[in-house]
Amino acid sequence: MKNKEKISLTLTHLYPEEMNIYGDRGNIMTLHRRSEWRGIELNVLRSGLGQKIKESDLYFMGGGQDNDMYAVFDDMLKNKKEILKREVKDGKVFLLICGAFQLFGKYFLDSQGREMEGLDILPVETQAPGDQLKDRCLGNLLTRLDPDLLNQMGAAYEEIVSPTLVGFENHSGQTYAIGEKYETLGKVEYGKGNNSKQKLEGFRFFNVIGSYSHGPILPKNPHLADFLIYQALQNKYGDHFEWVQLDDDIEWQAHMVMKQRLLS
Ligand code: GLN
Repeated sequence: MKNKEKISLTLTHLYPEEMNIYGDRGNIMTLHRRSEWRGIELNVLRSGLGQKIKESDLYFMGGGQDNDMYAVFDDMLKNKKEILKREVKDGKVFLLICGAFQLFGKYFLDSQGREMEGLDILPVETQAPGDQLKDRCLGNLLTRLDPDLLNQMGAAYEEIVSPTLVGFENHSGQTYAIGEKYETLGKVEYGKGNNSKQKLEGFRFFNVIGSYSHGPILPKNPHLADFLIYQALQNKYGDHFEWVQLDDDIEWQAHMVMKQRLLS
């Protein structure tokens, strides 16, 4: 389907060189293809070390090892904090994976005792108890979506085949919310998620989604991918855009194979 007037979105990829592990870049490919299939142009900008940010409709930042995070956190504070804070408050759409999710919080204290000040945008804090394998949250992840989020996703996605997210996690950081009231992506049915205790995965704040799911997360979770694109279109065009459902048979097969494997 073609949108009558050319509909376009801009996505800024934060630290594409430094913060990119476990195929997180695949999330951008998914957003790109799903937009393209609908006749929507997705322009991808990159903002790395020392580079400024242009206002965008969407933002993506992938995960990174502690050392990668250490290499970027100072630059984030100096060159990107102000504009990113403003963009979050303006309702721009963000997808942040693992190390990125941690760096948008108040701080990350790594297993060597290095404290990295975060952007203090998300009300979360993260500490890593140690760097032994046993200290890590490592393996496949299955999350049952929070009912309210599932409901919101329904506006963009007609037939959500499964109210779940599948992914893969590998982190030592234990993330906890600061404050009593907060929204997560949902309850963990397999794996750890934000920390080893609470069985909660990810965080929602304005239109920011923080998640521990690598994999990358979007190809096997088309409902989440469409939710992000749809929100960004609504921000930019109100209701003046055409939106069609895609045939996601293969995507859902991939989702269900993993889900069933983890539940069996
Ligand atoms: N370095 C962080 C941790 O282990 C994040 C790792 C990641 O992004 N996968 O907690």
